[in-house]
Amino acid sequence: MCGIIGYLGNKKALPLLIDGLERLEYRGYDSAGIAVYCRGKIVSIKSVGRVNLLKEKIAARRGVDGVIGIAHTRWATHGKPSEKNAHPHCDCKKDIWVCHNGIIENYKELKDWLIKRGHKFRSETDTEVLPHLMEEFYDGNLENALVEALKRIRGAYAVVAISKNEPEKIVAAKNSSPLIIGVGEKEYIIASDVSAILSRTKKVIYLNDGEAVVMGAGGIKFLDLSKKKVSTNLSGRTQVLDWDLTSAQKSGYPHFMLKEIFEQPESIANSLRGRLITDDGLVKLGGLEAVKDQLSGIKRILISACGTAFYASLAGEYMIEEKAGIPVEVDLASEFRYRRPIIDKNTAFIVVSQSGETADSLAALREAKEKGALTLGIVNTVGSTIARETDAGVYNHAGPEIGVASTKAFTSQLSIFALIVLFLARQRQMSLAEGKNLALELEKIPEKIKQILKTAPQIKKIAAKYKNFKNFFFLGRKYNYPVALEGALKLKEISYVHAEGYGAGELKHGPIALIDKNFPSVFIATENSVYEKTISNIEEIKARGGPIIAITNIGNKKIARLVDDIIYVPKTIEMLEPILNVIPLQLLAYYIGTMKGHDVDKPRNLAKSVTVE
Ligand code: GLU
Repeated sequence: MCGIIGYLGNKKALPLLIDGLERLEYRGYDSAGIAVYCRGKIVSIKSVGRVNLLKEKIAARRGVDGVIGIAHTRWATHGKPSEKNAHPHCDCKKDIWVCHNGIIENYKELKDWLIKRGHKFRSETDTEVLPHLMEEFYDGNLENALVEALKRIRGAYAVVAISKNEPEKIVAAKNSSPLIIGVGEKEYIIASDVSAILSRTKKVIYLNDGEAVVMGAGGIKFLDLSKKKVSTNLSGRTQVLDWDLTSAQKSGYPHFMLKEIFEQPESIANSLRGRLITDDGLVKLGGLEAVKDQLSGIKRILISACGTAFYASLAGEYMIEEKAGIPVEVDLASEFRYRRPIIDKNTAFIVVSQSGETADSLAALREAKEKGALTLGIVNTVGSTIARETDAGVYNHAGPEIGVASTKAFTSQLSIFALIVLFLARQRQMSLAEGKNLALELEKIPEKIKQILKTAPQIKKIAAKYKNFKNFFFLGRKYNYPVALEGALKLKEISYVHAEGYGAGELKHGPIALIDKNFPSVFIATENSVYEKTISNIEEIKARGGPIIAITNIGNKKIARLVDDIIYVPKTIEMLEPILNVIPLQLLAYYIGTMKGHDVDKPRNLAKSVTVE
């Protein structure tokens, strides 16, 4: 999400900040802005849209030749993408300027408190509480003001700030979101990732979580925020990078798809952040607050989506029916409005779209709205058309997804469905104990994904063994049926290999006729309520000589006698299994696709945001 860059040195800051923003563009953003100290005041220029537009605006201004400044590409989470909401944000006096990446969870309380104390806000962002808090606690020292402000906020942040009153320094801090310092010749660059630093220096320092830094003419100083310890010792902290610029833009990963697969522990943590009230087995979804009472009376739910989001919705259907007891129907968005769906005022309609611009999904949403349904969105892009047109909704906060084949958006959509299920089920039949358990299990998901990602080298070996097969089945039951569909879709999308997903019980009703030694099946066979049934389906394939890859739980040795290759995943509750079980399938597709020499980030014939019907 978003990009931050700060510069302090003896060169003109503005062109270097713009260059940095351009290098951070790949991260995805919706608006951009700069603030540069210049002859006694801070000049700020912002623009909605591409950095190019910002550049045009800047070109019209002369004399912005200061040597210290900060800049930002924003990926909106709170408040629509607009010039007013673009960073940097400032305090009432326009003295302190701040760029922030992340989410301040308790911004509402802080904002109310600051307004009572007379502060005037100019934007709808959560970020703006930071410069006002710093103004509130400013005692002539910018780092003290930052530390005092950070003590009061909850959430994820990477933050950089400058002040008109102390124009010789940049202060910064981080918690969860990345921030890296480049140490150049008489200059410092601070940025969200090394791609914005590498053109100036290869000497970098990674800031730690819970750490603040002051960079100035006198050198660099680190502050440990919890221990209140100050250190100026750089030894052992400076690293010399051997990356070139191209690989750095993907943070060292060869493809965005792989980067996004590996980002899933973080993207899911971001989707869940600040939303679970685990001790009460409850969930706090700001976007549903306004329609809470209406939702408690809902008798039926329709879900509509396309592609990967459609498969997430199928898992959502099972979750909602099983846990909240509300009847659910899922439709492909492209079918929905042509089949005369029956909708009344007790029907809620959920539309799921990563981009929030998917034309089919938008058309389905408009149809449902016209027929009087309460409409909700599960959308990753703040301010997108679907986000604006739904009555209420829950943002994914998964960060921009650049790889065309969806990975982290899928697992985030599943996580959001789990949150919505907890919301609806606790309004209805779910006990406190079950609610608490679901919340606890959800919290453990990011760690479990990290465990699966460690097995990537084994999955790569399996990919090498199977890469030349021309056809694949992906098979699973109950919650793992949509996972099978998604696994097959991933393989089709990026390796152009024919793959079909089926409910494992369905094979004997026809498709099993295709099985022979050249037709492998990938089974999702984790130990759940349908495990025994899935094993029977594996037996059926084995009896017909089909090669089998199985995904099962760590510790399951028995399955080895039946299958050719095994991928192990940790255990979780059945409803959450899809979030874990899809990860090996994403990796399998990725490795087969790259081994075949395809550009997996831009598969042929596909577009990321499908804005045509
Ligand atoms: N939450 C902040 C906003 O919406 C920062 C978003 C970002 O990381 O770009 O402005």
